[in-house]
Amino acid sequence: MDSMPYQLHILFFPYMAHGHMIPTVDMARLFARRGVKATIVSTPLNAPLCSKTIERDRQLGLDISIHIIKFPSAEAGLPEGCENLSSIPSPDMLSNFLKAIGMLQQPLEQLLEECHPSCLVADMVFPWATEAANKLRIPRLFFSGTGFFPACVFDSLKRYEPHKGVDSDFEPFVVPGLPDQIKLTRLRLPAYIKERTENELTKLMDKISESMVRSYGVLTNSFLELEPAYSEHYRMEIKRKAWHIGPLSLCNRDMKDKAERGNVSSIDEHECMRWLAKKNPNSVLYICFGSFFNLSAAQLLEIAMALEASGQNFIWVVRERKQTKLAEKEEWLPEGFEKRMEGKGLIVSGWAPQVLILDHKAVGGFMTHCGWNSTLEGVTAGVPMVTWPLGAEQFCNEKLITDVLKIGIGVGAQEWSRYEKKIIVRKEDIEKAIIQLMVGEEAEEIRNRARVLKEMARRATEEGGSSYSDLTAFLEELRTLETSKQERAAH
Ligand code: UDP
Repeated sequence: MDSMPYQLHILFFPYMAHGHMIPTVDMARLFARRGVKATIVSTPLNAPLCSKTIERDRQLGLDISIHIIKFPSAEAGLPEGCENLSSIPSPDMLSNFLKAIGMLQQPLEQLLEECHPSCLVADMVFPWATEAANKLRIPRLFFSGTGFFPACVFDSLKRYEPHKGVDSDFEPFVVPGLPDQIKLTRLRLPAYIKERTENELTKLMDKISESMVRSYGVLTNSFLELEPAYSEHYRMEIKRKAWHIGPLSLCNRDMKDKAERGNVSSIDEHECMRWLAKKNPNSVLYICFGSFFNLSAAQLLEIAMALEASGQNFIWVVRERKQTKLAEKEEWLPEGFEKRMEGKGLIVSGWAPQVLILDHKAVGGFMTHCGWNSTLEGVTAGVPMVTWPLGAEQFCNEKLITDVLKIGIGVGAQEWSRYEKKIIVRKEDIEKAIIQLMVGEEAEEIRNRARVLKEMARRATEEGGSSYSDLTAFLEELRTLETSKQERAAH
């Protein structure tokens, strides 16, 4: 631990969605290991997702805890017990969820007044957190959950609007002003960027951008060597103060940490490891589309047929959907599939210990929706990826994986399809991408590049590495701020 004159106290306020809570909890743990008092603000039903891990850290002597605030589900018209984005019953309840998120302003302000932390690290979905912190002269750090590359792409899209210069949704355009030539189409953009008709979402996104500009700086789950040109572009061209402190997933060192990260696994971690232990190195494809997105039964069926035809071993995570009728496997598995795939494939219905699986030497490919966490976890494990973006900034992340880093093969997803479009990608294309990634000379070249990045990721977080040093620089800056605040108070 760093020696310091007094202890910094940082409040971490994550968005109630797995893809945001998981890295924020990792971040709080990382800071606690560097001697900071870390408090994670959570709600009654979200806190249990990380409480065991935090308790283990406390027993190891770290100063880390969870502070619970109420989540106003009923007040926002959400069903009882709906406190996490992944538990909203239908997409049209998203606005209720965002309403509930907005209602957290008052409890956060109260907490800030009570504990007056050295700084507040708040998720981007809380734009009002900047003002709340500024009022009390507490620096607000902005956490978006994504990397520099997507941030630079989105900044360019907003600034230059290149999508307005093409005639159709299918026509590719170059995203201007970036270090590489990145091409996108309108179909791959979020509605709030391509349409610009004012609505609740565009208003929220504008508020988020403003609050980012007015915040003290940005903490990014990335490492310099992954996207050096974009980290530079972000700081020098977009002129944002930023620190890269990732990959945050690397703070999970032992099996328990990895197995319990973010949720309760639907498969016993030992059983999963035993299954993988029987497989040759790099022979298993891991398939997971994150914590939120669902594919239709028809699309799952195409994946199942492609997996069987590819002849590869696989672990396939299929999200459980209690609200829909998809529980019936007959609807999305070919007849006799499970029997034929015995020993060759493992289906996990629900939540898988992703980082634990990716880190196993038997895993040689990752079919991913390109969420930022998954992207970075694939990179950190040195596992090449079949990219299948579905929404959010995932089409940008796909470009980073396939065009810039060249550690993945696109499955051919063309457009946003968050809400269960029937079939987005056909069996033949899925099978082709899997084989291209797993077998042959090109696969070996991709794997070699992925291995190099894995080493870089690890080195970045070790003492003296780029992320370790950026975190040190950030903590030193906070200490300087704190000292001058205390000196001012003393006079
Ligand atoms: N995750 C997991 N097991 C699952 C599904 C997801 O551990 O079965 C984790 C994954 O490791 C990642 C996070 O959930 O850390 C998902 O974040 P990402 O940004 O990839 O996608 P999102 O869920 O936000 O779309």
